Amino acid sequence: MLAAVRVLVVEDDDGIAEPLMEGLRREGFEVERASTGAAALAATDAELVLLDLGLPDIDGYTVCQQLRARSKVPIIAVTARGAEVDRVVGLELGADDYIVKPFGFRELVARIRAVLRRTGGALAPEAPPVQQLGRLAIDRRTRRVYVDGEEIALSPKEFDLLSLLAEDAGAVVNRQQILEEVWDPHWYGPTKTVDVHVASLRKKLGHPEWIETVRRVGLRLGPTDGPDRPAGATAAAGAPSAQPPPPSDADPEADGEAADRP
Ligand code: CA
Repeated sequence: MLAAVRVLVVEDDDGIAEPLMEGLRREGFEVERASTGAAALAATDAELVLLDLGLPDIDGYTVCQQLRARSKVPIIAVTARGAEVDRVVGLELGADDYIVKPFGFRELVARIRAVLRRTGGALAPEAPPVQQLGRLAIDRRTRRVYVDGEEIALSPKEFDLLSLLAEDAGAVVNRQQILEEVWDPHWYGPTKTVDVHVASLRKKLGHPEWIETVRRVGLRLGPTDGPDRPAGATAAAGAPSAQPPPPSDADPEADGEAADRP
């Protein structure tokens, strides 16, 4: 196991910093935080700096310049300003990349890993590129999914969702974590979005029972090595701990089970 990469999150806003740090820790990073520019400049051992340019004390551009002047630590600038000129300035100041708020968590992690690869720094902890799970294979490098060797075309969110569940197959991933990791750290929208994607993913995989709904908790990737189920079998009945499916799609608590039954 590779040592965790130490990421310094420079962000004054608790509402942004906290879920972000939690998410990065789940991705295997070691995370520290600086809430001010001064604290950022005082921190010494970060291997990557995620630098919000809007800071309460010192201008983020100045922090960026000073960090760069003293070390080669990779810097990803975070800006609320999307104007092209700001982006260029951010890069001219020595940042290795930038990301514009609001950003998706997945996008951020992808950029962190790309910057770490590019700068030849410490390797980000990464799942092996091709993961074989029974009849299912997931290639994270090419973002392709295969069932029995046949490629299945998934949308980006469907891929991210499946990839997340497969990171720890058999473990329940709760809905909030799914929303944060596949959608956005600040997702406050309807959780129905998850159900819609789960239904579509089940249909595309052709094995609805592989993705099990654990009612009121979340989802898990169940065994993916069983034989094809006979036509007309009920989804998600395979796991001993699976709850009975909701009686009808009128159940407001339904976790998406009803959506993909004919
Ligand atoms: Ca800020």
